[in-house]
Amino acid sequence: MKETLKKKTKNYKKDRLKTKKPHKSGVFLLTPIDFSIKYHYNCILINLKRYTMSNSLDAILAQYEKNTEPVKSGKKISNEDRLKKYFTEKLPKGVKSQTKTFRILPAKDGGSPFTEVFYHEKEVNGKYEKIYCNHLNDGEHCPLCEAKDALYEDGSEKAKQLAKEFIARKFYVVKGIDRDNEDHGVKFWRFKHYRNGNGVMDKLIPVFKLKGDISDPREGRDIVITSGRDQNNYSVVNTIMADDVSILTNDKDYANEWMANSETFKDVYAKKSKEYLEIVATNKTPVWDSEQKKYVAEEDKEEKETASLTEEINMMRTETTTSFEKDFTKKDADVEVSKLDTDDELPF
Ligand SMILES: [Zn+2]
Repeated sequence: MKETLKKKTKNYKKDRLKTKKPHKSGVFLLTPIDFSIKYHYNCILINLKRYTMSNSLDAILAQYEKNTEPVKSGKKISNEDRLKKYFTEKLPKGVKSQTKTFRILPAKDGGSPFTEVFYHEKEVNGKYEKIYCNHLNDGEHCPLCEAKDALYEDGSEKAKQLAKEFIARKFYVVKGIDRDNEDHGVKFWRFKHYRNGNGVMDKLIPVFKLKGDISDPREGRDIVITSGRDQNNYSVVNTIMADDVSILTNDKDYANEWMANSETFKDVYAKKSKEYLEIVATNKTPVWDSEQKKYVAEEDKEEKETASLTEEINMMRTETTTSFEKDFTKKDADVEVSKLDTDDELPF
């Protein structure tokens, strides 16, 4: 039987579809069913890819959002509750003297209850702030330490004087109970280490030496802290005395709550963001920019605003030839500059 070329090809195709042998070009010729399966499989693949892509996109966006949030310490708590976490021996404004009773809690690991933490004390916006030192505490990069090193390297008297403002100081943080506010729970007491022997620690150590481990929950003692003011009106600790031996508490709920408390100073004292440190290191004032969601230097912001204002003034001048600039300068000069507040009571 003589087959035409057309028929031959048709049969060949038929055979190949039956046996699923590949065409000599290497490509399968698909039946409609095969094609449908492959089409759907491809669709699934594409959708899967889209799904994974949107998943990673979500993750990237979430990561970015998290990293651009203002730096907060641990859990979100109200300001009122936050204030309950701090204990201070310092006198509030206008108070000449006061006595407070505090019970130091023992360290969980049986070591010293006093944690050493380094802070820079830098004037920011007219107030001295304690800024956590990334370098001395964690061995990481700290823009304030870097500024200090650069100033010392400069070597001039002026630079050396300025460098002092950038030195990180050692502080102690200890957990305990404020006997006047037991319902506030465990509080954190932070005070500076002094080399001249006039600090809180210098008054606490003799108590430990004389009375033993006063932080013991069964056989420890409360301490009675009396503060007053020196000749410069600064708050100072006059005496720290040990009370009689007493149990930490007879209240079971309090005992469980206080002894189980696992918070550290990192949970209650906010750590500033990288941008914040960099701005302070250049002696500028950090202000929160809600649009950029980060701290920016107030001085840089003002420069920008003044630039656009100058443009506006020039425009107005050409249009109306008024003496707006003169008025503006006068108004600006009338703004009262707030005095430096050295009263460092705020712990956050
Ligand atoms: Zn530092």
